[in-house]
Amino acid sequence: MKIVQIASEFAPIAKAGGLGEVVLGLSRELTRQHHQVDVILPKYSFIDPSKLTELAVEPTGGPNASNTIWSAAVEECRLHLIEPREEDYFRRSQIYGFPDDAPRFLHFCKAAMEYLAALKKPIDILHLHDWHAAACAPLLRGMFASKIRVGKVIFTIHNLEYQGKCGTRDLDAIGMKGAAYLTPGRLQDTNPLYPQSINLLKGGILYSDAVNTVSPSYAQEIQEPSMGFGLDQFLKRAKVKGILNGVDQTVWNPAKDPHLAVRYHSSDPLAKIREAKNANKRLLQEKFKLKSLGRPLVGAITRLVPQKGIYLIQAAIEAVLDAGGAFALMGSSSSSAIQHQFDELKKRYKNHPHVFLEYRYSDPLAHLLYAALDFVLVPSLFEPCGLTQIIAMHYGTIPIVRSTGGLRDTVFDCEDGMVPLEKRNGFVFKEPTVEALRTTLQRAFSFWHAEQPTCLAMLRRMMETDCSWRKPAQEYLKLYLKSSPANKPAAPAKITISTETHSKIGYRTG
Ligand code: ADP
Repeated sequence: MKIVQIASEFAPIAKAGGLGEVVLGLSRELTRQHHQVDVILPKYSFIDPSKLTELAVEPTGGPNASNTIWSAAVEECRLHLIEPREEDYFRRSQIYGFPDDAPRFLHFCKAAMEYLAALKKPIDILHLHDWHAAACAPLLRGMFASKIRVGKVIFTIHNLEYQGKCGTRDLDAIGMKGAAYLTPGRLQDTNPLYPQSINLLKGGILYSDAVNTVSPSYAQEIQEPSMGFGLDQFLKRAKVKGILNGVDQTVWNPAKDPHLAVRYHSSDPLAKIREAKNANKRLLQEKFKLKSLGRPLVGAITRLVPQKGIYLIQAAIEAVLDAGGAFALMGSSSSSAIQHQFDELKKRYKNHPHVFLEYRYSDPLAHLLYAALDFVLVPSLFEPCGLTQIIAMHYGTIPIVRSTGGLRDTVFDCEDGMVPLEKRNGFVFKEPTVEALRTTLQRAFSFWHAEQPTCLAMLRRMMETDCSWRKPAQEYLKLYLKSSPANKPAAPAKITISTETHSKIGYRTG
């Protein structure tokens, strides 16, 4: 099959969270299964060129085109990088977080479609990821309908919270005639307070042949008004399906991980695994001047956004210390208010022998943490899939999670009698309260201290669970083959009026 993926992230060259890992992992697995996969991505100026091979300008477009298209190979995948000639849309320090995020990614979508049109080659599957690529779906049904031959369009929602809200003028800017899309059956946002607002993610849902999200539980949850961010009815109609993410085993493998002090394999004797994890813990402690060797080490590796339950992460520090543990946080924030709260925490725990707080994005340190931690904490308020708990288990680190979305699909409480023993792999709490968190931490620590054989057996079970992309890729292939072109809203007919008013609304990014 010829598959084109369009996304704003691709690990490791442009990653802000799970999205980049999914696009890499899925593309690489489909390539290995002999499908032809091409990934279209913005050419961010921060991409390290040494990570790209065979970098060359593609001849498509000609000297007058408004974008330069670069071709490159990365991690066995073929990439096409879009660089606007005039605008500085991707000459930024990071992927998201700018007031013009909607125009940036609308420009990207239009450029991607122009590129595919110029290629003049049929595509079996056009796979769009999140709101940043969503506008490709209505573009394909409208302006590019006769210019690109596509079998099916698949839209994957990695996080429903971010919807790419903008004004009709932003659509006009790429020639989409925004006013014509401002209807309830097209791209008009569902929030009655902002009737002039366009919702790009909604366009991905309405104009694609199949819509999926990244775990079965999240797919169910977002069809309810309480978690549907205004789009539950549209998601219900689209019959959104959940496909659980995998983890790329060439990136995340404790047996080959270059960032570890001592590597270990799931088939090693249990004592050897324990010793290797301890050696990694020692390295972490030496690096960050902790003195917590005998204590259970709990950590969180996360974006610091409300979704991730940041008040629970903050409360966890004291709860972990009270229960006799040590705490490590690796968090990245793009909000100054949130950053301020965490800076205050850092002051409070300055030079604390059992608390380590680091506010930056670092892949090498994240790798070491996954190996060094005893427990990873994921107290999310909602979670489309969550990769941290899956990676952690693969590194023999026990997850402590709140029961929601993909966390519910991957972590089963050690003491839950309703779950078969061989499936139990962590600690789960339901209510998003500090009290529930404290109780669960205490249960987890008792297990860690007292039940060594059970704990070690579970460690091997977690590490041996197949979390590769093999199965998820099969499910995507089924979706590619099964989804029949649905009834799409018609692309707007010729427009004669242009009375759009640009409402001042906050763009959501991420
Ligand atoms: P999300 O996509 O919502 O951020 P996921 O759990 O799906 O959450 O994926 C998060 C990914 O980003 C994981 O691979 C995690 O290790 C990584 N990550 C998150 N924060 C950091 C950080 N500060 N430094 C390094 N890696 C991080």
